[in-house]
Formats: sequence, C-alpha cells, structure tokens
Amino acid sequence: ASKAFVRISDIPSEAERLGIRPGPSKPAFLALISLWQGDITTLEVDAIVNAADEALLGGGGVDGAIHRAAGAQLLEACRAHHGCKTGQAKITPGFNLPAKHVIHTVGPIGEKPDLLASAYRESLSLAKANGVHTIAFPCISAGVFGYPAESACKVAVHTVAKWTNENPGSIDRVVFCLFNQKSVHVYEEEIKRFLKKE
Ligand code: ADP
Repeated sequence: ASKAFVRISDIPSEAERLGIRPGPSKPAFLALISLWQGDITTLEVDAIVNAADEALLGGGGVDGAIHRAAGAQLLEACRAHHGCKTGQAKITPGFNLPAKHVIHTVGPIGEKPDLLASAYRESLSLAKANGVHTIAFPCISAGVFGYPAESACKVAVHTVAKWTNENPGSIDRVVFCLFNQKSVHVYEEEIKRFLKKE
C-alpha cells in the first residue's frame, strides 16, 4: 500500500502554530520544534529516529513499523552494526522510507532519565555528524519500555532544547512525532511549562 508522504515544509513549527514571532531564547526554540501527530514512517525528513532495542534487529511498536516501511535492507544494515547499547545511537540509510536516514537509538527500560537524555543527545550528535538538518523523534521508551509518557516527554523537550542551544545552526527542525492525541496533549503541556520557566 502506498502512503502519502508528509514534507517538512507542510509541518508548521511551534512558533508558527502558536503565532509567536522568533525573538530571544525561548521563541528560537519554538521555531526549531514541531509537534506532529501520525505515523513517523510517512515523514520526508533527513532522518527519523527509531526507538530500537539493543539487538537492533527490529521488534514491535515504532521499530516494527519502521522496518516494515523501510524494507528488508534495513535489517541487513542494522545487522552490520552488531547491536547498540542503551543510550547510544547508530545510523543507517532509510531505504524505502521517504526519510534519507534512520537513526536507531535505544532508550532505557523504565524511568532512567540520564539514559533517556543520552539517547536524545547521541541521536542529535549523529544527525549533526551526518549532515542531517531535519529530524523526527518518536516518544522514545514510552511504549513497551514503560517510561511514563509525561516524564519521557519532559526529558525529550529539555534535552532537545539544551542540545540545540549548544549546537546552533546544525539542526533546523526537530519534529516530535506523536502517535496519538493524548501524547500531543502531553507535549503541548510540557512546552507551555517549559516556556513559563525561563
Ligand atoms: P519503546 O520500546 O522505546 O517503548 P515503542 O515503539 O513501544 O518503543 O513506543 C514508543 C512510542 O512510539 C510510543 O509512544 C508509541 O505509541 C509510539 N509509536 C508506535 N508506532 C509509531 C509510529 N508508527 N510512528 C510514531 N510513533 C509510534
């Protein structure tokens, strides 16, 4: 079945969506991020991030969806990496996906904020090293790995904000790709809290 691909230019940044003009620190972050509800395998971005496990051989959830959409070559490319430790990341081509690359990262099982933050940072560093300017993340660890969605979202937003501040000009857009309406709401609330804090 052919899926409609979604271009990054069709996804507004949070600054656009909220009608906020880019200014000092906080709005700069808003111009950089987007929330988008749907299937990450449809996104035409430089890289999508896979919430993989240490074996890097595919699985359920978003991992299964990415492998199905990318085709069998993705598994071969993953095998060549011989696994990936929790908190680390590996890169492969996107094969049949509209995304050029897949960055496979392994989030922690359960609520371990340092390892989850590491998964985001390592993914972003690998993106930067590979000339990736647009990247989409699922809510890593928040599915079968059992990380509570609210706290996983908090780590995601804060880690991406800090990294993009420290690495200006490398990544143009980070899409938080959420599978359901509830997750979108969780991210919206976290972004509001985050903006009030600074
Ligand atoms: P983990 O093992 O890291 O918990 P899961 O795939 O079980 O990974 O879940 C991570 C998140 O990805 C969950 O919030 C889940 O709802 C979401 N998800 C599942 N399929 C997709 C998809 N096709 N696109 C985007 N997000 C997805």
